[in-house]
Amino acid sequence: MALLVMKFGGTSVGSIDKINNVANIIEKQLIDKKLIVVLSAMSGVTNKMQEYIDEIESNEIIENDLILTSGEAVSVGLLSAILKKRNIKSIPLLGWQIPIITDSNHQKAKILNIDKVRIDKYLNDYDDLVVAGFQGVDVDGKITSLGRGGSDTTAVAVAAAVDAYRCDIYTDVDGVYSTDPNLEPKAKKIDKLAFEEMLEMSSTGAKVLHTRSVELAMKNNLTLQVLSSITKERGTLVVDENKLIEKEIVSGVSSVSYTHLTLPTSDLV
Ligand code: ADP
Ligand code: ASP
Ligand code: MG
Repeated sequence: MALLVMKFGGTSVGSIDKINNVANIIEKQLIDKKLIVVLSAMSGVTNKMQEYIDEIESNEIIENDLILTSGEAVSVGLLSAILKKRNIKSIPLLGWQIPIITDSNHQKAKILNIDKVRIDKYLNDYDDLVVAGFQGVDVDGKITSLGRGGSDTTAVAVAAAVDAYRCDIYTDVDGVYSTDPNLEPKAKKIDKLAFEEMLEMSSTGAKVLHTRSVELAMKNNLTLQVLSSITKERGTLVVDENKLIEKEIVSGVSSVSYTHLTLPTSDLV
C-alpha cells in the first residue's frame, strides 16, 4: 500500500479544533494509504519552553533539549488519542522510541540514522504512526533537538528512510511564494520549483521550510509538497529539476511524476 509522510506545523495543531481538523485530513488520506504523520508542538509552546530556560538561565544542554522538545509529546499524544477515538489504528511515537538517532550537538543535532525495520514493523500493526518532530536521541540515550523549525527535517528524514512516495508539509500558508506572503501582499504563489531554487530561498530566510529538510529531500530526490491545512488549494511542489523538464518534454504537460525515489539508510543528513 502507498506510504505518504505528512507533517503539520505548530499553527496547524495550535488548538483542539485544529487537531480535529488535522484528524479529518488524515482520515481522508487513509482510504488508500498508510500514513506517517510528523507533528510540531502546538504553536507558541516551544517559545514558552525557551522562555522558561532563559528565566532560570540554564546552560544545561541536556536538560534544555528535554524541555524544548516536550511540546511535541503533547501534540502527538492529543492527535493519536483523537484518531483512536475514530477507530483509526494509530500509535504515538517520540523520537527515542523509533529511534531517530542523532549526533550529540544539542539544539542543532543532525540525524545519523532512523530505524527503518522498526518503522516497518509499526506500519504492519498500525495504519497511522504519529511521530514527534524536532527530537531525537544520541547514542548515549540523551534527548536531542534538531534546531528551531526542525520538524520539517524530521519529516523528510523519515520519508527518505522509509521510501515514502512524497512528503507533504502542511502549514499556515497554501504554498511557497515568491517572497513571504505575510510580509508582501503582492507575493506570487509558485506551483512548482526545483530543490535548488527552494534551497536558495530557505537558506536566505524563507522559513516555510527548514533548510536542512530541503537539502535532505534533494539528496534523496524526494518530492515535497507545501500546502495549507486550512484551505483546500493545491500546494507547491518541490521537485528534481531534471525530472520536471523530462516530464514536460515527453508529455507536453507540466505535471510531475511522483514515481521515483532513492534510498537512504544511514548518515541521512
Ligand atoms: P509551521 O509552524 O507550519 O512550520 P512556519 O511558521 O515555520 O510554519 O512557516 C510558515 C511561514 O513561513 C508562513 O506563515 C510565512 O510567513 C513564512 N514564509 C517565509 N517565506 C515564505 C515564502 N517564500 N513562501 C511562503 N511562506 C513563507
Ligand atoms: N516545535 C519546534 C519549534 O518551534 C519545531 C518545529 O516547529 O518545527 O521550533
Ligand atoms: Mg516551520
